Amino acid sequence: MLLVEKRQEIGEPVRCAEGLFKDGLEDFIDYDPKWVCAHIKSARIHAPDGNVLSLSEPDNVAGYVLDRKIFDRALARLAANAGSEIQVKTQATGLIKHEGVIKGVKGLCRGREFEARSMVVIGADGVESRVGRWAGLLEPLKPRDIESCVEFTVSGVDIDPVCLEFYFGNDIAPGGYLWIFPKGEREANIGLGALGARLNGAHPIDYLKRFVDTRFPGCKVIQTIVGAVPVSDMVEHISTGGLMLAGDGARLVDPLLGAGIMNAMLSGRMAGKVAAEAIKKGDVSAQALRKYDEDVRKNMGKAIHRNYKVKEFVVKASDRQMNALLYTLRKMNVESIPVSSVYKTAITSGLPVMKMMRAIFKN
Ligand SMILES: Cc1cc2nc3c(=O)[nH]c(=O)nc-3n(C[C@H](O)[C@H](O)[C@H](O)COP(=O)(O)OP(=O)(O)OC[C@H]3O[C@@H](n4cnc5c(N)ncnc54)[C@H](O)[C@@H]3O)c2cc1C
Repeated sequence: MLLVEKRQEIGEPVRCAEGLFKDGLEDFIDYDPKWVCAHIKSARIHAPDGNVLSLSEPDNVAGYVLDRKIFDRALARLAANAGSEIQVKTQATGLIKHEGVIKGVKGLCRGREFEARSMVVIGADGVESRVGRWAGLLEPLKPRDIESCVEFTVSGVDIDPVCLEFYFGNDIAPGGYLWIFPKGEREANIGLGALGARLNGAHPIDYLKRFVDTRFPGCKVIQTIVGAVPVSDMVEHISTGGLMLAGDGARLVDPLLGAGIMNAMLSGRMAGKVAAEAIKKGDVSAQALRKYDEDVRKNMGKAIHRNYKVKEFVVKASDRQMNALLYTLRKMNVESIPVSSVYKTAITSGLPVMKMMRAIFKN
C-alpha cells in the first residue's frame, strides 16, 4: 500500500480543535500520554443569555484534547508498521481511469511527475477533496454547508483544564459556536465556526478577537489557524469502480458539532477492509465497492442525516430560540446524563431532539 501526503510532515499544519470522545478510540490505537494534552471530564454549554448547561463525569475521562501532530504521526506509524509505504511531499494531481474504472493516481513528487497504478484508490484528502471531484462523486459544497473556522492557541489563560466550553449566540458565533478546549493547565484552543452567510461581511477572526480580548485580557496568542468544516448531509455515493472516499474527503463530518476525527478513522478503516476483500476477490468494480457505501451509511449515515437536520435549525436560530433550547434541555434533566453519553443519547433518540427543536422553533 502507498500513502501519499502532499505536505512535508504528517499531521502538520494542524487545523483542528483536537477534541475527541474517548469511546471507541482504543479499537484504533493504544493510549499513549504523548498524544494527550487534556483529559476531559466535563462540558459547559453557554446560552446567549448567559445561562449554562453543565455536564460532568468527575470519576471518568469522557474524552481527550489531543496533540494532533503527535497523534496523526502515531496513526501513520501504525500504517507503516502494517506494511504501508509513506511518501510525504507527494501530491496526487489526477486519477488514472480506464473504461470508467479508477486504476491509480497521477502525482507530483518533489517536482517530478509520476503515475502510481493500483487496484483501489482511497481518497482521504480532507475538506478540499479534489479526488472526489475528479471521480465525479462530489459537487462543490453549498455555502450554507461550510463552516468557516478560526482558532487561536493561547497561553496564560485561566481555564478549567478538564472542561470543554461551548458558547452560542449571534454576537459570538453567528450560525455556529465558539469553543474553549483546554490543552493543559493554562493553555487552550479557543476557536469558532460561523456560517459565512450570517457574518454580514465580517471575518470570523473579528468575533474571536473580541471574545478573547474580553474574556482573557492579556493572554498570549501563540498560533492562529483558519480552516473550514464541511457540515453537509451525506452525499449519494462515496465509492465508484476502483475508488472510495473517506473522512472529510467524503464529507463524513458530524454536521452539528463539526467533529470529524472519529468518522475519518472509522470510514478509513471500513474503506480499508472493503478494499482488501475486493482485491482478494479480484473484483474492484463499482458494484463490489458499493459495500463500503452501505457500511458507512449503516454506521454513521443516520446520525449524520439527523444532525444535519438539527444543524439546519441551529444555524437559523435567534438568540431567543437558543436560550429556549438550553432551558428545555435543562428542564429535561440532561445535566444528569454523563458527559460521555449525552451526545450519543441525543443522537440515538434517547432525547426527542427533532420534536423538541420543532416545538421551540415554531414558537
Ligand atoms: C478549526 C477546526 C477545528 C476542528 N476541531 C475538531 C475537533 O475538535 N474534533 C474533531 O473531531 N474534528 C474537528 N475538526 C474537523 C477535523 O479536523 C477533520 O474532520 C479531520 O481532520 C478529518 O480528517 P481527514 O483525515 O479526513 O482529513 P485531514 O485531516 O484534512 O487530512 C487530509 C490530508 O490530505 C492531504 N492532502 C490533501 N490533498 C492532497 C493531495 N492532492 N495529495 C496528497 N495529499 C493531500 C492534506 O495535506 C492532509 O494532510 C476541526 C476542523 C477545523 C477546521
